[in-house]
Amino acid sequence: MNYVAPVKDMMFNLRHIAQLETLCALPNLQESSLDTAQAVLEEFARFNQEVTAGLNWTGDQTPATLEPATGVVHTSPGFKAAYTQFIEAGWQGLEHPQEFGGQGFAKSISAACAEMLNSANMSFALCPLLTDGAIEALRVAGSPELQARFLPHLVSGKWSGTMNLTEPQAGSDLSLIQTRAQESANGHYLLFGTKIYITYGEHDMSENIVHMVLARVKDAPPGVKGISLFLVPKFKLTHQGLVGERNDVHCVQLEHKLGIKASPTAVMKFGENGGAHGMLVGELNRGLEYMFIMMNAARFGVGVQGVALAERAYQAARNYALERIQSRAVDQSTTGPVAIIEHPDVKRMLMTMRAHVQAARALSFAASSAYDLAHHHPQTQVRQQQQSIYEFLVPLVKGYSTEMSQWVSSLAVQVHGGMGFIEETGVAQYYRDAKILTIYEGTTAIQANDLIGRKTFKDRGQVAQQLLVQMGGTLDLLAGLDCVQARSLHHRLTQARAAFEEALEFVVSRFQTEPRAVYAAAVPYLLLTAQVMAGWQMAKSLLAAQGEIKAGRDPVFHQAKVDTAHFYAEHMLTLAPGLAQSILMGGASVNALSAESF
Ligand SMILES: Cc1cc2nc3c(=O)[nH]c(=O)nc-3n(C[C@H](O)[C@H](O)[C@H](O)COP(=O)(O)OP(=O)(O)OC[C@H]3O[C@@H](n4cnc5c(N)ncnc54)[C@H](O)[C@@H]3O)c2cc1C
Repeated sequence: MNYVAPVKDMMFNLRHIAQLETLCALPNLQESSLDTAQAVLEEFARFNQEVTAGLNWTGDQTPATLEPATGVVHTSPGFKAAYTQFIEAGWQGLEHPQEFGGQGFAKSISAACAEMLNSANMSFALCPLLTDGAIEALRVAGSPELQARFLPHLVSGKWSGTMNLTEPQAGSDLSLIQTRAQESANGHYLLFGTKIYITYGEHDMSENIVHMVLARVKDAPPGVKGISLFLVPKFKLTHQGLVGERNDVHCVQLEHKLGIKASPTAVMKFGENGGAHGMLVGELNRGLEYMFIMMNAARFGVGVQGVALAERAYQAARNYALERIQSRAVDQSTTGPVAIIEHPDVKRMLMTMRAHVQAARALSFAASSAYDLAHHHPQTQVRQQQQSIYEFLVPLVKGYSTEMSQWVSSLAVQVHGGMGFIEETGVAQYYRDAKILTIYEGTTAIQANDLIGRKTFKDRGQVAQQLLVQMGGTLDLLAGLDCVQARSLHHRLTQARAAFEEALEFVVSRFQTEPRAVYAAAVPYLLLTAQVMAGWQMAKSLLAAQGEIKAGRDPVFHQAKVDTAHFYAEHMLTLAPGLAQSILMGGASVNALSAESF
């Protein structure tokens, strides 16, 4: 169950995919050099290997508990002490601005760190992830006064954040939110309602909890246009900005779950004793818009969780496959039984896991790099272009990485044979934990709807076309390499790109006329798009790795990158034409049966 952070692969991605050397020439990112990144990653790897990773299994076996009489939630053993270490070392503030006490590093560096924390202990990592989301929303929409009072404490991690969207009748469809906000005499609001499934809605690790809550004011327009965002602290602040009296927001229940058991998932009641004191964030009725900012950050973060979980599952499977002795080699090259990694089918499973992890990781670094450019590039036009690329990539990172974490964690169980099904091996926990990733922060279908609607149809596929043009440049470079792996990748990526172009044309041209067919194809379209975009990153990786081999740097590591990219071409990109066929032709059979026929 040991975890070893893949620092070398992350540095490869920071150098060649995120282009950190270019990023650190941008204003405000000068401190995000490759050398600094290496030092930060090594230090955080040590912290996670020594502190948080060891609490993953014990957290699963000893979930957070609620004391019903007091409403106090006790987190799993060791979590509170680990959190104190985490914030004392300043890890919460890694990507946040220095003016609020953060370290101001590139998101590309903090994303690598987030992957490590989530690999080590996903339940623990959810608390900082939600805090990051609250910080992002306050930075974008909060008044200077709200920012001054709350951001330094959130950035330090002394106070944690939550996201309160879901209600019993409002899950994927937030237009159904009913929580009420009533203006009070002093310009504040009183909130009344119930929120469910609130991650870290109550716990004992931070001094205060800052709830970001979606609610409606009286006479607000119906639907999503009448939702506002409020900040509701667990403890109200004194005039000096210190933690004051208890607010009227309470956890009344913790859910019993399939996975991430150490992460407290709370039912929260607002206003059972006169109203929960809240402050409006930004303007009235623009709450969902702000929440989308927070959700983009959180969706990217959940995508990284997918990579993280898959990496840990892969490591467990690889370690087991190297040790477990069973059956002879198929070519009779040995007399006795061999380690199962020698069997071609076990190798196939491990290569599938490895290739998915590396491709999804590279895709997440491509997205974080776009984010960094969108936030720090001096030219407005570049910032806007990169922001739209980032927004296009977020549903892919979220949708693909999380679906893939389930394939990979399932394969990890399979590699373990019967031992995989036994809880003590630990790998069953990864399989259980992975399932939430395709559900929260918007299910895969919701990501896919976002991709076909807001990210593809709305601009008539323009961002996608820009990316295809850039991909063409990579294909040209691949064509110049004389090796079997490059030739294969060139061939398969060209085919996959053509398949994607067909699917793109289908979505854009039929979106309005045949919505049932297009929406039936939404998830396959997301998977196809992600495969092609991730395959492109694998092509860039292959090119970079060949360059490193030529320069004589770490040939074993870089040859393995080349071979993994080759595997991705032969086993994942080959699926693209089939996916395109389902997208183009499959709508009728999806929609054939009426609801009564099921
Ligand atoms: C452990 C856990 C932690 C969570 N943490 C938080 C949190 O911190 N804060 C918070 O606010 N919420 C949180 N959630 C809630 C989570 O975001 C929702 O569960 C999720 O958005 C899905 O909503 P739902 O459960 O109501 O499912 P539903 O919306 O009822 O969806 C059911 C099914 O219908 C599909 N579906 C629904 N609408 C569409 C559509 N338009 N197109 C295609 N398919 C559709 C879905 O994809 C899904 O397969 C958490 C949930 C869990 C289980």
